Amino acid sequence: MLSLLDFRVRQRDFLLEISKAITSRLDLNEVLKRVVNASVAMLAGQVGIIALRDDRGEYHIQAVLGVPKEQIPDLNTRLLEVIQTASARDSELVNTHLREMAAVIDKRLIQSFAIPLAFGGEAMGLMLVFRSFQGGATPDDIQVLQSFADQAAIAVHNAQLYERMNFDRKQLAAVIQHSADGVVILDDALTILNFNHAAERMTGWTAWEALGLKVDEVLTFAHVDKGDLHKALEKGWPYPDQQDADDALYVEGDLLRRDGLTTSVGIQYAPLFTDDGKLANVVANVRDISNFRQAQQMQNVFISTVSHELKTPVALIKGYAATLRREDVTWDEAFVREYSGVIEEESDRLTELIEDLLTASRIQAERGLTLMPGDMNIAEIARRSVARFQTQTDQHKFEIHFPADFPLVQGDETRFRQVVDNLVSNAIKYSPNGGTIAVGGTADGNTVSLYVRDQGVGMKESEMDQIFDRFYRVDGALSRKTQGTGLGLYLSKAIVQAHGGTIRVESSPGKGSTFFVTLPVS
Ligand code: ADP
Repeated sequence: MLSLLDFRVRQRDFLLEISKAITSRLDLNEVLKRVVNASVAMLAGQVGIIALRDDRGEYHIQAVLGVPKEQIPDLNTRLLEVIQTASARDSELVNTHLREMAAVIDKRLIQSFAIPLAFGGEAMGLMLVFRSFQGGATPDDIQVLQSFADQAAIAVHNAQLYERMNFDRKQLAAVIQHSADGVVILDDALTILNFNHAAERMTGWTAWEALGLKVDEVLTFAHVDKGDLHKALEKGWPYPDQQDADDALYVEGDLLRRDGLTTSVGIQYAPLFTDDGKLANVVANVRDISNFRQAQQMQNVFISTVSHELKTPVALIKGYAATLRREDVTWDEAFVREYSGVIEEESDRLTELIEDLLTASRIQAERGLTLMPGDMNIAEIARRSVARFQTQTDQHKFEIHFPADFPLVQGDETRFRQVVDNLVSNAIKYSPNGGTIAVGGTADGNTVSLYVRDQGVGMKESEMDQIFDRFYRVDGALSRKTQGTGLGLYLSKAIVQAHGGTIRVESSPGKGSTFFVTLPVS
């Protein structure tokens, strides 16, 4: 038998060992193992078990002494019964379950101790010790075991905190790394500590190259529109006495990329202070605003083109009307008819332009196009369109090729006429030196195709997708001279798509273009 003094010494040694294990950052399993070992030794027992409670309140065995591995699943199930009866406060039944559990492990185990693991009032698990003799456990024994269990609970709590912190850190790192905006984290001397994927993409620098450099070696501007980091720094930014979001600094301009190109960006520099008010970090959030800039530019182009397009017919109408109204001259009938004719034509042009603008805005607002479908004879629409435009040019030769059995298709004839008119009118507009304009069709059972071919200026490959965008016009001497809003092909595409079809172009600069429209037959 141990003397009381020996016992106390042992007790102290165990506690010391356990606390050392916790503070020396051994992993949780190691700490639990030591707690189990110490507890079993303290009670001169043979078997010890520690089970931990998970987020759902279920208990799972985590550390054992004297239990073969293959018994653990069965013991987990029995443990469940113990927990359930314990929570029903039926101590008799708990003891029965504990005895059964002990017997499963080893028939010689006849006494059991159950000590809860708790931290801050929250149940974290349960420790069980079994021994092969029935002996009185003094309150002292129980108290010592409880202090072991408390140590284990601290270790579990720390491990959970550490795990959660680690998870939060990983989550944050993933958010930063995959953010669509560039995120650049700087230290208090504005040295780059973190550089995410989007920042790499926007600047052309790799994180590997950028880390450790000063921010203005990497985020350099070709042109600044708003804000200035250096001026702000000279004026004392960031101001530690106003530590709120408003203290962020916004800089907007064209960022000079590593490859010499530029990207329009808006950078928000947000300062981060330590508790005692010292600047710890600056987080720069870099947003690519090229699309926004492009949209703004497009809007400006649109306003100037549309105003120009509106002004021309209005000026003509006003001029012709003023002439007709002159009181000092009497105009003959033929003259009046000719002038009124021009006024009527120009009014039609105005109406058409306004219609186009309204349709475009409806499409843009995603209210879509309403179609009035019926049988549609594309060959006939094309013939009539060519006949109308032929009268407006003597520089161009027209050819029409449709097979005799070209099928009727389902569609909105008025809308589709707009597509054909637009393609034929463009073919004339963009072949200023004349040439042949061929309009024709092919059919293959399920689909029909219409083509409009010219021998005009053509276009570069890079323009081929963009010409179908709203207000897009190829920038060149010819388009500056020719009337147009850049809406024709945008509307044509929308109309063709509303019919379930496609439109595309084949072209080469100086040689001409062919537009193809393909529609399903039904
Ligand atoms: P608009 O003719 O009013 O400018 P569109 O949307 O009809 O607008 O055409 C967009 C742009 O596509 C034109 O400005 C022109 O640059 C180009 N384009 C259209 N058709 C042709 C063509 N047949 N040949 C060459 N370029 C064309």
